This record gives sequence, C-alpha cells and structure tokens, in this order.
Amino acid sequence: MNAHTENTPGRYDAMVIGGGAAGLSAALIMGRSRLSTLVVDAGEPRNAPAVHMHGVLSRDGTSPADYLAAGRRELASYGVDVREGRVARAAADNGDGFLVVLADGTRARARRLVVATGLVDELPEIDGVAERWGRDVLHCPYCHGWEVRDLPFGVIAHPAMPAHQALMVSRWSKDVTLFLHTAGGLSAPDAALLDAAGVEVVTGEVAGLAVEDDRLTGVRLADGRIVPRSVVFVGARRLAARDDVLRELGAELRETPFGEFVAVDETGRTSLPGVWAAGNVTGPQEQVVNAVSRGYRAGVAISNELLFADLEAAAARRPAG
Ligand SMILES: Cc1cc2nc3c(=O)[nH]c(=O)nc-3n(C[C@H](O)[C@H](O)[C@H](O)COP(=O)(O)OP(=O)(O)OC[C@H]3O[C@@H](n4cnc5c(N)ncnc54)[C@H](O)[C@@H]3O)c2cc1C
Repeated sequence: MNAHTENTPGRYDAMVIGGGAAGLSAALIMGRSRLSTLVVDAGEPRNAPAVHMHGVLSRDGTSPADYLAAGRRELASYGVDVREGRVARAAADNGDGFLVVLADGTRARARRLVVATGLVDELPEIDGVAERWGRDVLHCPYCHGWEVRDLPFGVIAHPAMPAHQALMVSRWSKDVTLFLHTAGGLSAPDAALLDAAGVEVVTGEVAGLAVEDDRLTGVRLADGRIVPRSVVFVGARRLAARDDVLRELGAELRETPFGEFVAVDETGRTSLPGVWAAGNVTGPQEQVVNAVSRGYRAGVAISNELLFADLEAAAARRPAG
C-alpha cells in the first residue's frame, strides 16, 4: 500500500467498485497520485459480448477483454490492488470513510468510494436477440455501424421511439427495414423522415430471428413471413443501472429519458459526501472513451479532496504562531 496520505493502517485511501473502463481509469489516476487504491470487480463489463471495440482512439478494433487486461497491467505498476469479487454493500464507517463488504464476506475500508458498476441492457424478449447480442444484433451504430455498412439492416422498433434507431442507422446502409413489432404506429413527421431516408416499414409482430450456420439471415414475423436481413439493430427494453450500492447508501437519483440514474456533478460527485460515480452507472450515453474520461475526473477530484483534507488537518495540529 502507498502511504502518502494521512490514513489509518489497513484502510485504503480510495476504493473503486467495478473495474470496467470507468473504474480502471479512476484507479489509474489515483494510483499515479500515490493514493492507496483497491478495485473490486465482478468481471462482467457491458460490452463483453462484442468481439471488437470501436471508436476508442488508438485502440479501435481491440477486444474489450484485451483492453481491460491492458488497463489492469497499467494499474499494477502504480501499486493499485485489484480483487475479483462482487461488492454486496457499503456503509458509512463511523462517520469517517466507508466499510465495504464483498459477497464472499471479505471486508475492506476506504476513505473515498468510486462506484463504476455500469448498467445492464434488458433486451426485448424476442427469440434469438439475447443469443446474438453484440454479434449481428447490435444497438449502437457508432460502435459497430462501420463494420456492417451497406448490409441489409433490420431495426426492431422501440415502443417509446419507434422511428429513432432506423433513422440513425440509415447513415450506414441504404437498405433499412423497420419492423414496427409492438409499437402502435408512426407519427406523420416520423413517417415523412423514414420515407426521406428510404426506410421500408413492415407492420406486424416479430416472432424471432432466422439464423443459419450461426449467422443471422432474417427477421421472422408472427405470421410466418421471413424478411431476409443480415444485421438487426434493437434498443434495450430498459437500461438498468447497477446502482444497488448507491441506492442503499442513499444517493440522490435523477429522472432521465432512459430511466433513473444517480445524480452527479461534473466530477462524478454524488449527493453523498465521499462517494463518486462514473461511467454507465451514471447514464447510458457514456461510451468507452467517455467512461474513461469520467473515471479520470472522479479520480482527480478525490486526489485533490484528500490532499486538502490532510493539509488542513495537519495545519490545524500545528502550534499557532
Ligand atoms: C454489445 C455492446 C457493444 C459495445 N461496443 C462498444 C464499442 O465498440 N465502443 C464503445 O465505446 N462502447 C461500446 N459499448 C458501450 C460500453 O460497453 C460502455 O461504454 C462501457 O462498458 C462503460 O464502462 P463502465 O466502466 O461504465 O461499465 P462496465 O464496462 O459495464 O464495467 C462495470 C464493471 O463493474 C462490475 N460490477 C458491477 N457491479 C459490481 C459490484 N457490485 N461489485 C464489483 N463489481 C461490480 C461489472 O462486473 C463490470 O466489470 C458497447 C455496449 C454493448 C452493450
């Protein structure tokens, strides 16, 4: 453990819950700031089903697993501890820092917390969608649109925003079919935009995906029709933040168009003194580079806060004059 702060033995300066892009980035900058830091990670990053990660400058096309493994290697050189495990709960530790309990009963203490536990994409219950998620069933054209450009796309409408995803992906292919599935219908403005984008609209419920030789070949409708498609875009039914630890601690939440997420300031500081949050646990729009950036900000904010807390305590102890 580093010992460059006014800390009690056996207690970390900072603990990061979740070792994805956001958490590892926070840990990297805190380790480099000579804070004793522990990362506890359950090992289920959101993009794990995807073979390649895109849009990450200088790491475009790397596998998500290789990216995080490289991050962990970097942490090791700054003395950051990384532990596999799941945090079951965290609680204030007699008004001074936090006591964190892992699912296996292990306990750890830390002065500050960064919660970077990500979110879960709750997928529509359509036969084949979960099985092919991240392969030829996709959600984000910025992540994977280039790799499937110009192929025949299917888009399964989200009931809340039936036209949105089909319009988005029309930049990557001129052959887009929107399946209205359970979305009631289209507004006149949406219909006009879809028409302008050359998107074909198919009504009727989707029963599942047609797959041959482990390759998506079409979208199967409840009436038995199969519309040949090579790629399907679909939005999650619900984006569920993995925020149990934050909720239990009593962090304030905010309503967003995607559901409830923890309220944070620009540095990731939550409403709870000493607790930061970063990455997808704070909102679904943080792609990998954004998650890395948010983790970095949280790490710097904690480093500064502890520096001044320790200096002020030391100054108060010095004899006057
Ligand atoms: C299929 C798919 C493909 C994607 N492709 C791309 C892409 O190409 N480019 C891109 O920029 N973005 C992509 N994304 C988005 C990307 O996954 C997120 O931006 C990124 O994962 C956010 O990082 P994070 O650190 O916030 O969360 P995560 O990466 O999800 O990491 C959170 C970590 O916290 C752990 N954890 C959760 N709860 C606990 C707990 N209680 N205790 C300990 N650990 C816990 C989890 O197991 C996980 O390891 C993709 C998303 C999906 C769904």
